Amino acid sequence: MTVYKGACHCGAITIELETDTDPATIDVRECQCSFCRAHGAESASDPAGRIRYIERTPGDITRYRFGSQSCDMILCRHCGVYMGAIMDDENSPGYSTTQIRHFEDRALFTKTARHPDYDDEPLETRLARRRKTWTPIAGT
Ligand SMILES: [Zn+2]
Repeated sequence: MTVYKGACHCGAITIELETDTDPATIDVRECQCSFCRAHGAESASDPAGRIRYIERTPGDITRYRFGSQSCDMILCRHCGVYMGAIMDDENSPGYSTTQIRHFEDRALFTKTARHPDYDDEPLETRLARRRKTWTPIAGT
């Protein structure tokens, strides 16, 4: 397994994507929702990997919800940087799509970004898509 690491601007939150998948094959998305556009988001996920969001101190992560209220945007409480989105799930620790622009090895994710627009996607379709394409949250 390779671990791709990143951090927010102030370093309070670190992210670790653990995967055997070649990052050159991982789908890169610039989601067209108002939140992602405001943050210049570059998102990626790997259903075969595992993702961790690690706080330096409990409470460093702030969660923000909007729209369908079906996932939490993960932001640093101190520097405000958007790190990724987490969807809680009943039968697992949940799923996440992550901001690859914070990875030290961002350059290895070479796919040209798609620009999906999910605004009109029905909720059930949305949840099913995330379960299928987002990265499982690592158990502790
Ligand atoms: Zn920070």
